[in-house]
Amino acid sequence: MKILVINAGSSSLKYQLMDSVTHDVLAKGLCERIGIDGRLTHKVPAKDIKKEFEISMPTHAEAIQSVLDALVSPEHGVIASVKEIDAVGHRVVHGGESFAQSVLITDDVMKAIEDCIPLAPLHNPANITGIKACQKVMGNVPMVAVFDTAFHQTMPEKAYLYALPYEYYENDKVRRYGFHGTSHRYVSARCADMLGKPIDQLKIITCHLGNGSSIAAVDHGKSVETSMGFTPLAGLPMGTRSGDLDAGILQYLMNKYGWSIDECLNVLNKKSGVLGISGVSSDFRDIESAAKEGNHRAEVALECFQYNVKKLIGAYAAAMGGVDAIVFTAGVGENDAKTRMAAASGLEFMGVKMDPDANNTRGKEAVISAPDSKVKVLLIPTDEELMIATDTAEIVGK
Ligand code: ADP
Repeated sequence: MKILVINAGSSSLKYQLMDSVTHDVLAKGLCERIGIDGRLTHKVPAKDIKKEFEISMPTHAEAIQSVLDALVSPEHGVIASVKEIDAVGHRVVHGGESFAQSVLITDDVMKAIEDCIPLAPLHNPANITGIKACQKVMGNVPMVAVFDTAFHQTMPEKAYLYALPYEYYENDKVRRYGFHGTSHRYVSARCADMLGKPIDQLKIITCHLGNGSSIAAVDHGKSVETSMGFTPLAGLPMGTRSGDLDAGILQYLMNKYGWSIDECLNVLNKKSGVLGISGVSSDFRDIESAAKEGNHRAEVALECFQYNVKKLIGAYAAAMGGVDAIVFTAGVGENDAKTRMAAASGLEFMGVKMDPDANNTRGKEAVISAPDSKVKVLLIPTDEELMIATDTAEIVGK
């Protein structure tokens, strides 16, 4: 089946046309500056084609139309007609407690996604706009929603409840949801494949370390714990996000500097994390260069990140009563051998032994632990688009 995967943001939209059987990416690209002017970048990997166009995109509908035009273009297209697209898979950030799996989009599903807007006020409206634009331009092509939160819906109550008065969970749905679920699900499944064992016999810790980072404990194929929470601000320190902190700090800083809660959250979301500590950059490559030149704050930013990854690996092994495999994925996890090594070293007491040569790998699947390591450590590039395409094909094929 040919599946169009759509990831719609408020002013941008990423797409991939995939063959769900061969897993080939037929074309992919990005619409930017939707609602401002409009720019399309379109790539055809098999032919090494990369084209850029200025196209007026007052709304997401024109953006989708420009994607379809590019896909059928005689010069740089990959299909003869839009009719060849069997289905569309949409990334949707928040499914709340309504969705533990991907679903075919119906009117009721749209309503439930809209009901989740208060939980993800920045993301869900953009995702909904993307779905509606596709419906407008593509008519009756079946569409599937794949949620970032769905995989973590298997967490037990003890893991997802915050120790707040219970009514805030009951009435207001304040709980840990977790994010990056599509990535954690993909890499845990690949991990089982690579180890040649059924996933329901494995305890896996998946470390999605990118600009946004989260770790999950995947016990027998089910997420039982994850580090992001009610929002993606929680857990590890990230590129620019603080991760977990003492809520009392908010009151202290707001009083001291006269900040509103929005100003405070802006600091926590955009000026913190490894950028905040290092003062250099949110990009690990820049921070590593600065650290190499002796910048102490850059060094400690890296150490702080690595230490927190290690600490959660230990915690999640305890949560599952053991661990068979640890997976590193996403921008930092896939490319940064030093961070992987630092996060996994010192865990020899629990059976983790890295292989420095094998770890000296970038961006491709590999076992990076020593042959005699009790706990296997793997590098697995994530592929959320493939997971979305696979889910979409499976649901539409039924
Ligand atoms: P996002 O969360 O935006 O999807 P990614 O998973 O693409 O982010 O990760 C992007 C981050 O990966 C960059 O900000 C950078 O810190 C890191 N990164 C990419 N390549 C390297 C590399 N070779 N070495 C270290 N870090 C890298």
